Amino acid sequence: MQQYVLHSLQQLQAHLSQSRQLYQVVDNHGDAYWQHQAQPPFPVLSQQRPLSSAKSFFFAEQETLYVFDGQFFRETIPKPEPFVLFGVQSCDLMAIHYQDIFFEQDPYYQARRQQALLVGVDCVHPCQNGFCNLVDAGPGVRDNTADLILHPLDDDRWLLIVVTEPGRAALQGLALTPATGHAQNLRSDNLTQCEHEFDDHSYILEGIEKLNRDQAPDAFWQQLAIQCIACSGCTTLCPTCSCYGTQNQAVLQDAPDKPPSQARQVRFWDSCLYEGFQREASLHHPAEQAGERVKRFWYHKFSDDFLPEFGRYGCVGCGRCEQTCPGVIGVHSVMKRIVKDA
Ligand code: SF4
Ligand code: SF4
Repeated sequence: MQQYVLHSLQQLQAHLSQSRQLYQVVDNHGDAYWQHQAQPPFPVLSQQRPLSSAKSFFFAEQETLYVFDGQFFRETIPKPEPFVLFGVQSCDLMAIHYQDIFFEQDPYYQARRQQALLVGVDCVHPCQNGFCNLVDAGPGVRDNTADLILHPLDDDRWLLIVVTEPGRAALQGLALTPATGHAQNLRSDNLTQCEHEFDDHSYILEGIEKLNRDQAPDAFWQQLAIQCIACSGCTTLCPTCSCYGTQNQAVLQDAPDKPPSQARQVRFWDSCLYEGFQREASLHHPAEQAGERVKRFWYHKFSDDFLPEFGRYGCVGCGRCEQTCPGVIGVHSVMKRIVKDA
């Protein structure tokens, strides 16, 4: 892999934004979120994990799948302009990699994904609630998840690693200084140091083991689920959650008192924590009790059953569920309780 040293990110941001829409995480009074950056000067790269991951760039919160005009069905595959996600952290990149597998055959997801260039950034300090180091998702960006990787060497310099051919092509025309072995070693040292800075989260590994040995009985999950208010905060923010629902809608073209002239099918983010998510038309419900739904969520994140399909667990260790759940049943709380009570 080619590696370079940059003395400023501005030049790289300006170069990439000439041929693509550039999105970057920005800090605003303690919150961090993705924002379109149209022109220089570009903001400094945030060290903070944004509350919302990058998943909505590819899997839209709501979108029309097709339109029926009374005679023909018309697909509505999106046609986005090329774009770059500049500075995606390793856990969120691993989540995109996971979603790439889940949505491999989905033309709506793939239409957006194929227009994206992913510029990852290594984390050099653990984030609050993060445990990417335990689930093979960080703190260093994994090579198979990004086109380009950035690593902060010191206050002024960045290591730029070219991973893919689209990444190499995106740099064409940019004057770059090859990196020395010293810079590459520094990256390795910084990542090792970062791994040592994580708190002891070994209860998560213990919890995963107990969960896979089926040592958490139904009564445990029912007790836990008393605290779930089905707000869907966890499934909305989790970067690997991909449950969706669809709905047929009539489109009124002229006036509300006239019959609809079109119908469309809309897809929207759903949540497996909602009571209605799995209810079937016959009214049979495979997860009628809230405890069954909460259990199902956590099995989808940590069951060994999904390893053959995805090659990893469905959790990338971002910690967002812990941060957002008003019922205190995010990953740290759940795993501590499995270890202690199950
Ligand atoms: S389960 Fe929680 S920690 Fe794991 S990826 Fe989802 S939001 Fe992040
Ligand atoms: S965030 Fe907590 S309360 Fe809300 S749906 Fe998820 S588990 Fe339930």
